[in-house]
Amino acid sequence: MLMGKQTEQAVMDRVVLIPFHECWEWVGVGFVNDRGYGKVRWHGKKYRAHVLLFELHLGPVPSGLELDHVCRNRTCVNPEHLEPVTHRENLLRRWRAVQRDRVVG
Ligand SMILES: [Zn+2]
Repeated sequence: MLMGKQTEQAVMDRVVLIPFHECWEWVGVGFVNDRGYGKVRWHGKKYRAHVLLFELHLGPVPSGLELDHVCRNRTCVNPEHLEPVTHRENLLRRWRAVQRDRVVG
């Protein structure tokens, strides 16, 4: 999927770039679903916002993989903060993050 100027504008209109903050916060229609992810309808197809942004910028998510938020911010749609990983790896990272929070907090 290549990104034309119009496509880029339509998508980026729904993103807030926070100064001094590397995350791109999704503020699109529908805002976030119950699991905390941004969601969006694009050309008749439903996407999670971060998946759409990743595909528009970097191409399709490799099959069998899911996108992990390296920054742990679920509403972030910065393609550079997303890494395709296996479901197992994703769960493992989430578990580690929870453990870490427990230690700190
Ligand atoms: Zn981020």
